[in-house]
Amino acid sequence: MLVAMILIRPGEPGYDEARRVWNGMVDRRPRLIARCATDADVAAAVRLARERDLELGVRCGGHNAVGFAVPEDGLMIDLRGMDGVSVDREWSTARVGGGALLGALDAATQPYGLATTAGNVSHTGVGGLTLGGGMGWLARAHGLACDNVLSYRVVTADGTVVTASRDEHPDLFWGLRGGGGNFGVVTEFEFRLHPVGTRALSAEYTFDPSADVLRAWRDISRSAPRQATFDASFRDGDTLVVGFVWVGDPDAGRALTSELNALGTPRSAVVRELSYLDLQTRDDTVQKHAIRRYSAGHYLPELTDAAIDAFLTVEDGFVPNQGLQAYGGAIADVPDDDAAFGFRGTEFEYGAGMSWTDPAEDPDRIADARRTAAHLAPHAAGVYVNMLADEGAAGVRRAYPPAKLARLTALKDVYDPDNVFHLNQNIRPTSR
Ligand code: FAD
Repeated sequence: MLVAMILIRPGEPGYDEARRVWNGMVDRRPRLIARCATDADVAAAVRLARERDLELGVRCGGHNAVGFAVPEDGLMIDLRGMDGVSVDREWSTARVGGGALLGALDAATQPYGLATTAGNVSHTGVGGLTLGGGMGWLARAHGLACDNVLSYRVVTADGTVVTASRDEHPDLFWGLRGGGGNFGVVTEFEFRLHPVGTRALSAEYTFDPSADVLRAWRDISRSAPRQATFDASFRDGDTLVVGFVWVGDPDAGRALTSELNALGTPRSAVVRELSYLDLQTRDDTVQKHAIRRYSAGHYLPELTDAAIDAFLTVEDGFVPNQGLQAYGGAIADVPDDDAAFGFRGTEFEYGAGMSWTDPAEDPDRIADARRTAAHLAPHAAGVYVNMLADEGAAGVRRAYPPAKLARLTALKDVYDPDNVFHLNQNIRPTSR
């Protein structure tokens, strides 16, 4: 196979752009950046890293919270050139390059009124998001991103190209659905698409902090149709925003707003019709690159009254910023042992996030996010692997229940016994 990979070294054009990722705290300098365009390039880059004993990082959207894509003094595979999306309208499928961003996927499918589950910010990578699970506004109706993958094309640790699907390498297919970047470099995802139309509705009701409001909002969420994803945030210590996002006919979604109207008198209520594409880019600016960030999270099996009280707790000395997003629906329909992804019984995902610009604030802001999330820890069971930051092996144990972790470890022993792919939420092979 012809190898056309471009190797970039420190100081060469494109080097700094490629090593910069979403989190402004990440400032690592790979020895080599391999800009790949084909499976053969990726295979050559994996082999090169192994021959030269260079730590290997894999970059797609660069959104990983701690910048795992960028190895210090190692070799970074930059997949962003592999960003093609081709849609098969007849079969409602899409083939998506391993380096594509979510925005490219949505842009290619929406002209046909089609989409598959993607995350909420369009500059997130399809690669990292889907390999960890992939939560988005369509997940309650159509499952996680990983539940919609029909096949993966993968370059494994020995440079072999394999296809993983229910029929081919089904063990690898299981592990790639939630196991992160542990088993190889995915050069192409084949997704199932759904006829979701092109319209959406969002409702945001802003209140003074109130446990009663949050409880009533939670109760409404429990009987909401799958097209609705309830979300809430508690910001700046004094602002509670509750609402939902609806994908599909906005008029049908409006029926839910009459239930929200019964929550009391909000400070403001914003109900907005928007296109699905606008919904998918709504948070792009606030989530822009190069700011310093830290986050911590949990899965909540049930948003109990006690969890709501914990969510609204304000400590002296810092301002919590945290949010909730509903799971359930099609996510919970999938049998637990069908994929590596765990905790399908989650009712809400919880996340606390801090952003700042001054490096001198790093320790304080990181501590703030951890302290905020600690309030919810007694109510949690598990965590979304893509929400983990620097918790290391303890975080991996939170993301996968013991039986899944054992099965993932056995799979790692088969596909990556030398732990070539370890810059991730690492599943360690038995020998390492
Ligand atoms: P990268 O940093 O490029 O990749 C992360 C890791 O994934 C890499 O280190 C590598 O191990 C692996 N990887 C990436 N691509 C490949 C590939 N093709 N083959 C093999 N391994 C690969 N998650 C959700 O589920 N839903 C959301 O709505 C959501 N919103 C987010 C919004 C923002 C602003 C951010 C920062 C994150 C969000 N996330 C969301 C979390 C997101 O899923 C993870 O951060 C994910 O790792 C990002 O993937 P990436 O490709 O952008 O990141």
